[in-house]
Amino acid sequence: AKNAGKSRLQRFSSSLHQDILEHQTLLQDLRVALDNNELFVVYQPIVELATGRICKVEALLRWQHKSRGLIGPDVFIPMAEESGLIIVLGDFVFKEAVKQLAHWRATVAPDLTVSINTSTYQYNDSGKHLEHWYQYIEQMGVPFHAIILEITESMLMHQHENVSKQLLSFRDHGIHVALDDFGTGYSSLAYLNQLDIDFIKIDKSFVRDLGKGRSAQELCEVIISMAHKLGLRVIAEGIETEAQLDFLASFHCDLGQGYLYAKPLTVDALQPLLESKQFD
Ligand code: C2E
Ligand code: CA
Ligand code: CA
Ligand code: CA
Repeated sequence: AKNAGKSRLQRFSSSLHQDILEHQTLLQDLRVALDNNELFVVYQPIVELATGRICKVEALLRWQHKSRGLIGPDVFIPMAEESGLIIVLGDFVFKEAVKQLAHWRATVAPDLTVSINTSTYQYNDSGKHLEHWYQYIEQMGVPFHAIILEITESMLMHQHENVSKQLLSFRDHGIHVALDDFGTGYSSLAYLNQLDIDFIKIDKSFVRDLGKGRSAQELCEVIISMAHKLGLRVIAEGIETEAQLDFLASFHCDLGQGYLYAKPLTVDALQPLLESKQFD
């Protein structure tokens, strides 16, 4: 029994050791991924629910690892945040998305806007380094109001001072702000109004439960009507079924995204959708 216990412990510590090594290797690969052109941005259409028109896209980062294939942001974004790489990756996504938006607006979609995820670590220095983003937007000839920056509820809890200072600066420039994953944290809608946020994004966990009982329905309905009373527009994420769409439309939800319409797509794959302008 003693021996068995020891070997279990050895097995445990050796697999822990393996995990740490694995993590370090992946982190090392991530450090050079940008220079190796392994990172790219995909775009998911955001649709006006009442008309089916594609009016925005959300930029989402992808990593095509040289030997492991596609790695999801749920794996590498946290690594980038822990290591500080997120600053460089965040700048990359921002520039890619704004440059791409400028091209789309000049060609197929003059009114298109882009929504870009930001991480709490990008606000650590009270967002000073975000200041050069303004210059880039002007340089690309895109109006500030065509850019939405997404922040999360947890950022408001952990980096409140820095984030709210930066939100004021965004507002002064006319950049829009969306609160992502709404409903998963603790912020009240009234408080969001003080921060002058423009959109809330209802988390996909709530959308998933629509039609599976009254509580998800009531929750979505209340969030949407309260948001509207406060002058916020609502984007529902993770719409996968017609039934979920019908619920959201009946609650007058403004916008939505999800596999029902389209998955996040490469620039090339998105082109025909932007040309046809809307879903029916
Ligand atoms: P998020 O910002 O909440 O993005 C929504 C996620 O839901 C995306 O996962 C998207 O592909 C997925 N999704 C879209 N429609 C559906 C649907 O109908 N059903 C389901 N089940 N999922 C759907 P993705 O692309 O894997 O991104 C995961 C998370 O990684 C994002 O969650 C975001 O927090 C983070 N992330 C992605 N790109 C970036 C980035 O450029 N910067 C930062 N800071 N974070 C990013
Ligand atoms: Ca998002
Ligand atoms: Ca989300
Ligand atoms: Ca506003």
